[in-house]
Amino acid sequence: MTSAITLTLLGTGSPLPSADRAGPANLVQAGGLHLLFDCGRGVTMRLAAVGVHPGQLHHVFLTHLHSDHVTDFNDLVTTRWAAWPIPSPLPVTGPIGTAAFVDRTIAMLSDDIGYRIAHHDDLNEPPQVDVNELAIGQAFLSEGVRVASAPTDHRPVGPTLGYRVECDGKSVVLAGDTVPCATLDVLCADADVYVQTVVRPDLIRAVGSPRFNDVIDYHSSCEDAGRTAARGDVKTLVLTHMVPPPQPGSEEEWIAQAAQHFDGEIVFAHDLMKIEL
Ligand SMILES: [Zn+2]
Ligand SMILES: [Zn+2]
Repeated sequence: MTSAITLTLLGTGSPLPSADRAGPANLVQAGGLHLLFDCGRGVTMRLAAVGVHPGQLHHVFLTHLHSDHVTDFNDLVTTRWAAWPIPSPLPVTGPIGTAAFVDRTIAMLSDDIGYRIAHHDDLNEPPQVDVNELAIGQAFLSEGVRVASAPTDHRPVGPTLGYRVECDGKSVVLAGDTVPCATLDVLCADADVYVQTVVRPDLIRAVGSPRFNDVIDYHSSCEDAGRTAARGDVKTLVLTHMVPPPQPGSEEEWIAQAAQHFDGEIVFAHDLMKIEL
């Protein structure tokens, strides 16, 4: 029997460079659709590792416009446009501000777009991106797959969104960067899998940098993620986007902090990990 949903944790890193963790990005495959959530550093390479070309994506969803979550959106757009034989607009859903971000990205690429149109007889127009700036309560529905969204709390960054994908009675929540909040709880209720970006306040404070300490304010800690998972009665909590980048062998420490509040399965993500539902 094939899975209703396949979740691939394409990139499990954060803004801090890591040799083995690409930037935040998750691929959800359901109902024959390839749905990408966020476009962090190296996303096109990680998609290649699972055999998905940017030209094959059915939809891109953005949780927010922080650089680590969108930095390789431009690579995705260019590669879909210039290196895939069948032209089609890239559907992108994201918070208010996404349309302006997409326009600026296309403007940034204008030199390259000009070179390629001048060089290739069969390339006559710039990349097309269809943007849907999501209002609260809107959902994406296609091929038996439903993607619901909810506002999250990553203040002062905003607006930000979390997403919940449902197919054949299975569900995955991609929370993005957020502190615990009531709308996230609604999104997580009874989910099979809840993916949360996390930070370790204990390790960050030990560095003693005021700018680094600011990171604590607007992210979930492992303990926060455990509490959200418990309130939602989810089956599996996935910890990702760890800040600081985890030391080899420290996996159990991160899991133990979340496990203080949640007795379900806890997964410590690494790049290209697959979860089948
Ligand atoms: Zn962020
Ligand atoms: Zn982030």
